Amino acid sequence: MYQKLALYINGQFIEAEGRTTQEVVNPSNKEVLGHLPHATNDDLELALVSAERAFVSWKKSSPTERSTILRKVAQLTRDRAALIARNMTLDQGKPLAESMGELISCADHADWHAEECRRIYGRVIAPRNENVRQFVLREPIGVCVAFTPWNFPYNQAIRKVAAAIGAGCTLVLKGPEDSPSAVMAIAQMFHDAGLPPGVLNLVWGDPPKISDYLIRSPISRKVSFTGSVPVGKQLASLAGAHMKRVSMELGGHSPVIVFDDADVERAAKMLAKFKIRNAGQVCVSPTRFYVQKKAYDKFLSVFTDTLSNIKVGDGLDEGVEMGPLAHERRIPAMERFVDDARSRGGKVLLGGDAVAGKGFFFPPTVITDLPDDAMLMTQEPFGPVAPIVSFDNIDEVIARANSLPFGLSSYVFTNSLQIATRVSNDLEAGMVNINHFGSALPETPFGGIKDSGIGSEGGSETFDGYLVTKFVTQI
Ligand code: NAD
Repeated sequence: MYQKLALYINGQFIEAEGRTTQEVVNPSNKEVLGHLPHATNDDLELALVSAERAFVSWKKSSPTERSTILRKVAQLTRDRAALIARNMTLDQGKPLAESMGELISCADHADWHAEECRRIYGRVIAPRNENVRQFVLREPIGVCVAFTPWNFPYNQAIRKVAAAIGAGCTLVLKGPEDSPSAVMAIAQMFHDAGLPPGVLNLVWGDPPKISDYLIRSPISRKVSFTGSVPVGKQLASLAGAHMKRVSMELGGHSPVIVFDDADVERAAKMLAKFKIRNAGQVCVSPTRFYVQKKAYDKFLSVFTDTLSNIKVGDGLDEGVEMGPLAHERRIPAMERFVDDARSRGGKVLLGGDAVAGKGFFFPPTVITDLPDDAMLMTQEPFGPVAPIVSFDNIDEVIARANSLPFGLSSYVFTNSLQIATRVSNDLEAGMVNINHFGSALPETPFGGIKDSGIGSEGGSETFDGYLVTKFVTQI
């Protein structure tokens, strides 16, 4: 049985009941899994008003109370992981093992926020006059509106929900219509964990219409979005026009730099496996590969060989390592990148053409000999396509890596301490991974700079976007 789909407003699950609905499709075989109700404007208003009403008492809840609910959600996530993971593979396409991994890491996110929300502190500032007391209080910002994407449906949502609720905020969340089951499951778990009505509200519908309504409303005080750079800029400018705080976790185009002195074989094997994770539909996926000249041939051969042995198929099938793309529109998106590469003289060493059949399958693809201004080298492919080029020296490669407007993640392979220090200082990125992949843990900050976003999720920074600072002075 696939997940029941509904709106969740003021503690009530509301089914279609005459509302417009949208088909949810399995990307492995195009079968219709369910019908998702779209929120009307009245539903959106009710969600906002419910969140506003709930904020009056939720902002006064003790951190222990918030922590208890987040802990219960962590436990429920573990208890229900097998079912939620199966549904996520059905509507998103990723292999079951990846869905399970996402669920288990999300239970950690909920637990970590449960601990950390008990450590939201203010401070006391020494006065100039001994009779004065000066305090800095950190208070929840108010009603938040959040928009989460389809690539990590559970993970992207729980980070925002746990941070908002842990900080004492209430929220209206719009989940991903293409892959809704995991976010539905989140609403059900908070409901079962005893979250008061109105603290979390979940809506679905036409993304631009919903975001426009929720951001313009005088009730909302903060906007959090994960998705593409163009949409992020649009939502941030609307939020700016209404003087609302934003957190933006946007796309990147993560450079990978492999130096001659690295363990090239290890790097190539690790990167090939990382590249096809979630069929490359990962904001921190390694997407531009720069390999130093002496290491280039070996890297290319091991990387291509590893990718050519990846089992692609329905994520529920045993041994499948890469599923389909999450929806139909991603296939022409991949084809545009490959067509541009071919027209720019690129050599397609592996893959390159969509797989015929029922699902939205695109194979692992390796392309070389591209100029730096090819589409693949300048725009995030968000799919299983890897462009690989060579470089001569460190100054050149840092300049090439920093040449784009994005700055999310970056990956460097070297055995030199000097090189490691230099790249971690000079790469313009929110995250620098040296010789391994270590981002996205609950206790570490995750976020981008430049066009890749504003603010961090996770780490002790996680509540910053959901709190306002109040200064109190008394005599
Ligand atoms: P898209 O830009 O149409 O949508 C991206 C996400 O934003 C979707 O979840 C969508 O529902 C949402 N969205 C779109 N317009 C919106 C609006 N006006 N208001 C609120 N939400 C809105 O592209 P797509 O084909 O769905 O996804 C591909 C692109 O999205 C990729 O190139 C990638 O850059 C980006 N993306 C990034 C992440 C991430 O984790 N940063 C996740 C998913 C998608």
